[in-house]
Amino acid sequence: MERLSHWIDGKAVDGASEGVGPVFDPATGEQRREVPLGGAAEVEAAVAAAVGAFPGWAGTSLTRRTGILFAFRELLSRRKLELARLITAEHGKVLADALGEVERGLEVVEFACGIPHLLKGSFSEDVSTGVDAYSLRQPLGVMVGITPFNFPAMVPCWMFPIAIACGNTFVLKPSEKDPSASMLLASLWEEAGLPAGVFNVLHGSRVAVEALLVHPDVAAVSFVGSTPVARAVYARATSAGKRTQALGGAKNHMVVLPDADPDAAAAAAVNAGYGSAGERCMAISAVVAVGGVGDALVDEVADRARALRVGPGEDPASEMGPLVTGAHRDRVAGFLDAASAEGASVVVDGRRDLPAGGGFWLRPSLLDRVRPGMSVYDEEIFGPVLSVVRTADLDEAIALVNANPYGNGTAIFTSSGAAARRFQHEVQVGMIGINVPIPVPMAYYSFGGWKQSLFGDTHVHGMEGVHFATRAKAVTARWTGASVGGGSLAFPTNG
Ligand code: NAD
Repeated sequence: MERLSHWIDGKAVDGASEGVGPVFDPATGEQRREVPLGGAAEVEAAVAAAVGAFPGWAGTSLTRRTGILFAFRELLSRRKLELARLITAEHGKVLADALGEVERGLEVVEFACGIPHLLKGSFSEDVSTGVDAYSLRQPLGVMVGITPFNFPAMVPCWMFPIAIACGNTFVLKPSEKDPSASMLLASLWEEAGLPAGVFNVLHGSRVAVEALLVHPDVAAVSFVGSTPVARAVYARATSAGKRTQALGGAKNHMVVLPDADPDAAAAAAVNAGYGSAGERCMAISAVVAVGGVGDALVDEVADRARALRVGPGEDPASEMGPLVTGAHRDRVAGFLDAASAEGASVVVDGRRDLPAGGGFWLRPSLLDRVRPGMSVYDEEIFGPVLSVVRTADLDEAIALVNANPYGNGTAIFTSSGAAARRFQHEVQVGMIGINVPIPVPMAYYSFGGWKQSLFGDTHVHGMEGVHFATRAKAVTARWTGASVGGGSLAFPTNG
């Protein structure tokens, strides 16, 4: 059995103070690797390496830093199929999805390659006679990223390219369910010429995370995962004085108005509901059928869901792979019994006609006449289960979206600009799609939800990412005619 290592100070390091965890091939159900679970000793080593590397890296010129980022970008682009294969092997998603994930991560690396421009301060000449005012942004120190299983390459790439480009050093604590992608990313950084200790990978689970959150040498924490853990991470890290952003879970609604293109809406619901087996934080979980569209939409989505080819992610014919673990598959399947007991109708039952073998299989499921108060509506399922909720009109649909405690993504399908405009204005959600079911922002915008989908106020990547990874200085300088010690220095605008 292959045992993974941590990546600390530019080398593979063993250390399993908290034991080891299994890494499965979800398509066969077999354990393929074991991952060491770090504890206090491994956290100490990883943070010490990042502390040691910080002065040198922060003092490296922007030109040199950018050169290394470009080299990393080239290597990642060249090795993207290899990375995608690793993701498919441990997460289960089909190879096309895994490649898509790598591409989206690569876009953040490309954004970070523009760091000389992104870090430019501002300058005001002669704010007073002989006095200039300007601003600088400087790195924070050691930044930590704690990431979920569902995007083992993309979500870390939301964080570390910008953190490192800004001059910080980084400790990544990836999901223990699919940890291999982060090790390939570490080796690409090394090949790109990143100095040892700037990027470190520490494997582990709760114990490692909790030690990182309170470590005195950690300056900032970026977390992405489920809402209960995000809430706890945010509380603990902020009370330890860390700058923290904690992105949580989701329950994303797709509102379909009677004037929507019915084929486009059905295709979008199927792609966004079942793609990557529904294990996306931007997956559509609830389709809101407005007015009379429900019956036809349910029929069309049901036909398409039944026709989806479910199989191993490496098979090019597969459109949906297995779920990440057996325990997660069983939890998702459990929602189907609960839904029918609570009065929803099970239109397509994904527990039938499963592929042979011991993989963590579940086919797409479709539920109709779902309502708030049912567990299938109230809880994040994070699997291939789409619920249809019916509303009389757009008012009711908007009220439904806004009453939900999550606010990650949402979409509206309509041919009315006025309805779309009203929707984007009134919904209390961070990311909105108009005839786009999964509105993941481009790297140069920022990703993040509202309400219980984000603890903290800063979204990831884009300019919010640059701000999160730096702190500002404002300088007021007098070089000519200065009368040092004069009282007017403190308030130079009067002259
Ligand atoms: P998770 O919350 O179980 O784990 C996330 C990370 O936290 C992992 O690295 C894990 O090791 C660690 N962790 C788990 N339990 C912990 C604990 N008690 N204390 C400290 N650390 C702990 O999430 P997951 O199952 O890996 O990922 C799926 C979840 O992530 C879903 O809820 C999904 O919506 C969410 N997600 C959100 C976004 C977003 O952008 N908002 C993006 C991707 C995934």
